[in-house]
Amino acid sequence: MMLDSFGRDHNYLRISLTDNCNLRCFYCMPEEDYEFTPASRLMQFDEIEAIAKIFVAEGVNKIRLTGGEPLVRKDADKIILSLSKLPVTLTLTTNGTRLHEYVEVLKQANIKSLNISLDTLQADKFLLLTRRDQFRQVYDNIHRLISNGFHVKVNVVAMKGMNDTEINDFIEWTKDTPVHVRFIEFMPFSGNKWTSNKVFTWQQILAVVKSKYPVVRLTDEKHDTAKKYTVPGHAGTFAVISTMTSPFCSGCNRMRLTADGKMKNCLFSKEETDLLTTFRNGDDIVPLIQQSIGSKAKELGGQFTADFEQVHAEEIHNRSMITIGG
Ligand code: SAM
Ligand code: SF4
Repeated sequence: MMLDSFGRDHNYLRISLTDNCNLRCFYCMPEEDYEFTPASRLMQFDEIEAIAKIFVAEGVNKIRLTGGEPLVRKDADKIILSLSKLPVTLTLTTNGTRLHEYVEVLKQANIKSLNISLDTLQADKFLLLTRRDQFRQVYDNIHRLISNGFHVKVNVVAMKGMNDTEINDFIEWTKDTPVHVRFIEFMPFSGNKWTSNKVFTWQQILAVVKSKYPVVRLTDEKHDTAKKYTVPGHAGTFAVISTMTSPFCSGCNRMRLTADGKMKNCLFSKEETDLLTTFRNGDDIVPLIQQSIGSKAKELGGQFTADFEQVHAEEIHNRSMITIGG
């Protein structure tokens, strides 16, 4: 068991496989000329496997692979298949552009559910947001995964002036498609042009949906970060991840490992613990993991509060999202 000083048990590890990506979402990757970490500084296949096993021995029972884009890593299939042999629920978060190449691997790994990011249902806006013309590929891959029996959650970062007018288009999509749309409040990270007036809040999202549809709240499960809803009669559901207006830190069970082997006890933590260097030196990383968990802040990395209108992004010390692993 990995308990922090607030009694929260940490059994969920998110591993970033790379800080490389084939899209350029402005809210995640700060600049076009961003330099990816050289491969030698990333955790290698055997290091990921060994470090994951150490976390599992300490109580981890769920692992999410993320990035950057996890599926641009050349040995992603090998990593997925290897981690699928551990006694964990394995899943991943992906931008969906490469999923057509991975359907069989995901099946072999017994992955049942995955998160795919898609912030707009308009091809021209997709290009504006991601600087790459891949809307059709992602949209088709979402449907491909659904028809192959996967439970698909679609992550939509809701941003005022960008996609707030599309909320009900996403809800309409859930009418006949068993897709689970999750609107995520826009979060501040290094260099991502965040300002509080670009946050489209949980309450605003809900008001938009309720203006057109009857809405029923679904029951939250322990550790849920999303407030879940359904429109009666729709094949899919929707949810809101209200990190900025109503954080869910009290039930947090997450830890993160960056692609260069640094542990973060919170998405917003200032501090990082270098597990990879210690591991490469042949030393025990368990005391470092315990120390990191023991020093976890009560909420939001101790850097801000849910009073998001008072948040000044430039005062937050953190990496960019792409180098953390969302
Ligand atoms: N490349 C994969 C993808 O796009 O799904 C995985 C990594 S991405 C960093 C993980 C998730 O973080 C995505 O759903 C993305 O939309 C979300 N994300 C990135 N920057 C964000 C921000 N500033 N606010 C809220 N969510 C963000
Ligand atoms: Fe790449 Fe995902 Fe970040 Fe977009 S959100 S730049 S797809 S890592």
